[in-house]
Amino acid sequence: MQNDKILFVTSEAAPLVKTGGLGDVGGSLPTALKALKCDIRIVLPAYREVLRIAGKLAMVGLIDVSNSSVVRILEGKLPNTHVTVWFIDSPAHFDRPGGLYAGPDGHDWHDNAERFTVFAKAAELIALNQAGLNWYPDIVHCNDWQSALVPALLAHQPRRPASVFTIHNLAYQGLFPAETFERLRVDFQLPPDLWDIHSMEFHGLFSFVKGGLVYSDMLNTVSPTYSHEIRTPAFGNGLDGLLVHRAERLVGILNGADYAVWNPATDPFIAKNYSADKFGGKASNKTALQERFGLPVKPDTPLIGMVGRLVEQKGGDLVLQVIPNIIGEYDVQFIVLGTGDKRFELAFTQIAANHPDKIAVHIGFSEELAHTIESGADMFLMPSRFEPCGLNQMYSLRYGTIPIVRHTGGLADTVIDATDESLDADTANGFSFDIAAPQALRATVERALHLYRQPQLWSQIAKRAMAADYSWSRSARAYIDLYELARQYRNTDKPYR
Ligand code: ADP
Repeated sequence: MQNDKILFVTSEAAPLVKTGGLGDVGGSLPTALKALKCDIRIVLPAYREVLRIAGKLAMVGLIDVSNSSVVRILEGKLPNTHVTVWFIDSPAHFDRPGGLYAGPDGHDWHDNAERFTVFAKAAELIALNQAGLNWYPDIVHCNDWQSALVPALLAHQPRRPASVFTIHNLAYQGLFPAETFERLRVDFQLPPDLWDIHSMEFHGLFSFVKGGLVYSDMLNTVSPTYSHEIRTPAFGNGLDGLLVHRAERLVGILNGADYAVWNPATDPFIAKNYSADKFGGKASNKTALQERFGLPVKPDTPLIGMVGRLVEQKGGDLVLQVIPNIIGEYDVQFIVLGTGDKRFELAFTQIAANHPDKIAVHIGFSEELAHTIESGADMFLMPSRFEPCGLNQMYSLRYGTIPIVRHTGGLADTVIDATDESLDADTANGFSFDIAAPQALRATVERALHLYRQPQLWSQIAKRAMAADYSWSRSARAYIDLYELARQYRNTDKPYR
């Protein structure tokens, strides 16, 4: 509904802070909802890096979240928007060097459970209008385990807003030992009944994500296919039974791509702007990309790009297994940008060192390089084992950079494999394969390399890819419908348990 008052609770919101898709959504969805006239406020931890770039902030509240912690609420705007952000400022928990969830050594922060309980308690008090902000939301929208305690806390209140929980990635659950729960229970006066297998206990551990899954009025994943996959043991991470039980409350809404940021016609990061009508402009970006990464400048050599977290989920091991064969047999180049597991970072660095004329790797996080790769590569590789939605394949489509993906989750919802039938029907926009095995990936890359040699057909696929519309405005409308359902359930509902 227009004028819905929505409290959007998230641990990431681009452009302030982002480690992956959650950050993209945390920035784009509130902005799209604001454009649809929702009254939306974001709640975000005041990380050190965020405070550095957030601009001028006003202190608007001070709340006791535990026996020993008082947090400040600082108010600012999401950059370049009119979306209000309430930053939860607790220096002991968020003002530190290193990553959002892990320290400089790559290990999770030892106090993550406490950090995100402080965050959740603050969000709960804001949601109940007990933080002195004089604003009472209709909907509290939480995202992934870092904010999943909020629906559980709200469900214990007699009067509360409706709650929605979005699963961006069920593999990250926020699991902590029983002793941690006991400590949090005492310090933050958490409801003791959270420790129950029908609540947030999970095989003897305290599971943050279960707070969202068990207690929210409505649940969603970030693609329709993933919303079905997680109801099966293969993708459910042990929570498939619970998700089957809550199936009536679970829907899938595909993320949107932010075309203000990801548009080859206007992208300020790339060497030459281009569009489907001026597709030739892409060639200059390929040259620029090859130069930038120190590869031989060869306009006719197919160039395959990859950007993303270098972790098992993304199929990096599959890529490492097939690269030697492919570069042995084909004239082809690979460019990889990513950070993640040290073993993958090392393996990619090593393989590039062994084949400097065919493979270039940059270990790091760079928005600029991500755009450079999307604009300059011919194909984009994303062979994920599972993919809740995936954004890079949508960016690739928009850049006419043909995605090669595994048929799972959001990849299955956006990429249509180039088969004889789909080529005849004019629907193909990429390549996909079913089984997460090196042979299947290799065969699919080979199919793409062969089709690349048919320029007419290739440019048809590229133009079709560029025409696809995965914008946020459509998805944001689907969220408004979801909020309405949550509100109806909240009003009519006996609590789930
Ligand atoms: P996930 O959320 O699983 O990491 P998504 O494809 O949904 O994957 O979103 C990843 C987002 O993070 C995309 O916007 C992608 O461009 C960006 N990204 C990932 N790794 C890097 C990197 N090393 N440098 C720049 N951007 C990156």
